[in-house]
Amino acid sequence: MTSRQFDGNTLLVASHNEGKVKEIKDLLENLRIQVVSARNLGLAEPEETGATFRENAELKAGLASQATNIPALADDSGLAIEALGGEPGIFSARWGGESRDFNLAMEKVEKRLAGNKNRSAAFVCALSLSWPDGHFETFEGRVNGSVCWPPRGERGFGYDPIFIASGMDLTFGEINPALKHSISHRADAFRQLSEACFAS
Ligand code: IMP
Repeated sequence: MTSRQFDGNTLLVASHNEGKVKEIKDLLENLRIQVVSARNLGLAEPEETGATFRENAELKAGLASQATNIPALADDSGLAIEALGGEPGIFSARWGGESRDFNLAMEKVEKRLAGNKNRSAAFVCALSLSWPDGHFETFEGRVNGSVCWPPRGERGFGYDPIFIASGMDLTFGEINPALKHSISHRADAFRQLSEACFAS
């Protein structure tokens, strides 16, 4: 099935995270699309009530495009650990508590693994583009790897210091950010989105 092409000139990024907005602007740089952010338009941040990354990305993109009548892009991402049945998953940000303390969140991962030999994990990112008429195009990117202990590296954010991508020795907290951005779950989802919807 062919995906709907984006042929407008303005795209709303339905995120209040300025880092994500900048990353998306950079990725769309060559396409001559004006990017506006949810914060610029004074949109409230919706509660993430979905049960999956896909549902949360579609919920955020859908609400934003309905409210503004502009096509909107939203993502939802997190770390899924096999031995924890996919947790922290959609709750990845919330495991850091009110203050988003990821040292605490990483300690919680290690405690919950409790010596389990299966350290397999993946970062997952669902990216959804929604049009005001209710049409969605959603893509899921991932990077497989494992979790280590103790945390290593000062680069990156969130769970980066305990994540090692398959085939690497260094954590996402230690590798060059440009390398991370080229192999990450977000890059994978963006690649799929741009091939499908921004091809022309
Ligand atoms: P979101 O903003 O609701 O998508 O929350 C994503 C959460 O997942 C972040 O707060 C991080 O805890 C975690 N996460 C997502 N992507 C990454 C990454 O690339 N590195 C480290 N942690 C990540």
